[in-house]
Amino acid sequence: MKVHIVGGGIIGLATAYFLHQQGAEVSVVERGMLDDNCSFGNAGLVAPSHFVPLASPGVISKGLRWMLSAKSPFYIHPRLDFDLIRWLWLFFRSSRSPRVSEAMPVLRDFNLLSKALYAEWAQLPSMDFGFEANGLLMVYHTPKGEATEIALADTAAQLGLQVEQWDRARTESHSGPLGEKVRGSIYYADDAHLYPSQLMRQLKNYLAQQGVHFELGTCVQELVVRNGRVTHLQTDKDQPIEVEEVVIAAGAWSSQLLRPLGLCMPMQGAKGYSVTLKQPTQRPKLPLILTEAKVAITPMGQDLRIGGTLELAGFDDSINYPRVEGIMASIRPYLPQLPLPQQGKDPIWRGFRPCTPDGLPYIGRLEAVPNLTVAAGHAMVGLSLGAATGKLVSQLLARQRPDIPLELFRPERFG
Ligand SMILES: Cc1cc2nc3c(=O)[nH]c(=O)nc-3n(C[C@H](O)[C@H](O)[C@H](O)COP(=O)(O)OP(=O)(O)OC[C@H]3O[C@@H](n4cnc5c(N)ncnc54)[C@H](O)[C@@H]3O)c2cc1C
Repeated sequence: MKVHIVGGGIIGLATAYFLHQQGAEVSVVERGMLDDNCSFGNAGLVAPSHFVPLASPGVISKGLRWMLSAKSPFYIHPRLDFDLIRWLWLFFRSSRSPRVSEAMPVLRDFNLLSKALYAEWAQLPSMDFGFEANGLLMVYHTPKGEATEIALADTAAQLGLQVEQWDRARTESHSGPLGEKVRGSIYYADDAHLYPSQLMRQLKNYLAQQGVHFELGTCVQELVVRNGRVTHLQTDKDQPIEVEEVVIAAGAWSSQLLRPLGLCMPMQGAKGYSVTLKQPTQRPKLPLILTEAKVAITPMGQDLRIGGTLELAGFDDSINYPRVEGIMASIRPYLPQLPLPQQGKDPIWRGFRPCTPDGLPYIGRLEAVPNLTVAAGHAMVGLSLGAATGKLVSQLLARQRPDIPLELFRPERFG
């Protein structure tokens, strides 16, 4: 079987890995040079603790309140854009759907499968991407934040995840000096983390050595369909690429490629920022999520990455400095002594999370075009679910029963 994968983010590369293992002839068609995309600069969390889909009750009201602040962790750029308005409506509807609870055990298993696969990759020769499976702390400093996190931890425990409530002193022994208002944290023992840019570079090199073909600097402009099958990829190069099976793993841009085929998979790119401090003098021992601020702080090798914000502002890739300042300022009440990035010295990275309206990815073969499979829309958890997504897609293409049930992720669920 010959498979062309459009997009070389973690989803595309993980899919290439497992398809190649199955004996498929695999090509990755990528418009960039595979030196940056959303999968490089993220917070590196492989997080079974993230079992609640983004579209969950409470997110909307919180989001609307945050929108009024220039430095808040969530922002929607107000504009008359029909796609955005429809996406927001579907998001609102999904956040009240019983599917939120239905999705939780599935996302738990999906994350745990991925974590096990990353642990296997970490054992491969020439792969050393800072994988550490020693848990994560959700830190809070308000009574409301504490109550919310305890309620979430109760649900996690019911789902069989290992959680512990840590008091301030125990939290401090793993985080470094805490601000006086910090009350404690929830420890999620099943979580892991890694250094995403190292993973991406090493995985690309490993795949190339194994014989996976890369067409870099090649932008797919159109999927040419004849008699209900994709026959060619029209690119910005002269010659169209003839195809047998195609996987769309083009992150936040996936729905743009599918729309001309009459396929409706609503998607918004949600911009986020990160800054990586090289060998800072102080680093927490475990990844931290500062829960009220929605900021992730992850030790990566000798470095430290700080990431946050979710901006729905189209594909404008400029850096909104007040919002980056907002991330940094929001750290101080938790970690007053943590070295923070210096403006102008530490580069600010940004990437677009591929967000579906129900917070669940699109994974599946298309009913309308049977040689076309979609694997996109993993929002905040694309790295976490990445390795497992690759495995599931390879199982779909081999017509095997997938390790995780995929009904909730049906690409054509929005009509
Ligand atoms: C600040 C921040 C922190 C995050 N932290 C975490 C975290 O801790 N854990 C986690 O699990 N997730 C995290 N995420 C989310 C995660 O990074 C994404 O979900 C994930 O990287 C998406 O991977 P992807 O392969 O779908 O897309 P991408 O990595 O965006 O890759 C898509 C690729 O497709 C290519 N492409 C697009 N269109 C075309 C075309 N027409 N032709 C050819 N190529 C094309 C693009 O160039 C790109 O290389 C974070 C995101 C952000 C922004």
